[in-house]
Amino acid sequence: MSEMAEIKPGTARAVNVTAGQVVRVVNTQGHQVVDTWAFSVGDLREHLSMEHSRSATYRILYQPGDVLVSTHFRPMLTILADTSPGIHDTLHAACSAESNVFYGAPAEDPNCQDNLKGVMAERGLALDSIPCPWNLFEHAVVQADGSLLDEPSAAAAGDYVELRAEMDLVLVCSACPSSVGDISQGEPRGAAIELIS
Ligand SMILES: [Zn+2]
Repeated sequence: MSEMAEIKPGTARAVNVTAGQVVRVVNTQGHQVVDTWAFSVGDLREHLSMEHSRSATYRILYQPGDVLVSTHFRPMLTILADTSPGIHDTLHAACSAESNVFYGAPAEDPNCQDNLKGVMAERGLALDSIPCPWNLFEHAVVQADGSLLDEPSAAAAGDYVELRAEMDLVLVCSACPSSVGDISQGEPRGAAIELIS
């Protein structure tokens, strides 16, 4: 039986996922970017790594069948299915108080970096640094001249990415509250993590 963990607009959730378990990150209302991290339960310093996964898959945008790896090149997440248009940015840093200042937004606006630190702190876990998130549903693509193009997320309500954990991990998802670049097409709407099996 599946179990749904709701992510309220602009906030984050952390769930423990055991090796072999299948989860879906669900874009419940559409057009919501969901910053996603995974940390090894055994050692927080080993985490899902965008740069290692780009090298492992030889892709900038991952797709079903790809196995995403940790900072130690160990399998962490296999992408089983994706009902969205399939563009999930792997390049952008998480939004933060500092990035808000950089882009001219109010520093006090909520942000994914503080969301991540907050849900980890609730578990008594402190992070040495903030890994690059896997920005699910974020429509950022590299153009022919090497520049990046951001557009509002094209994900529809109910779209999901289905993942299988390849090790025991803490999965963190933040329904990005950023107002910079209109990546979530207006106000944050929230999302959900669904434990399938
Ligand atoms: Zn964000």
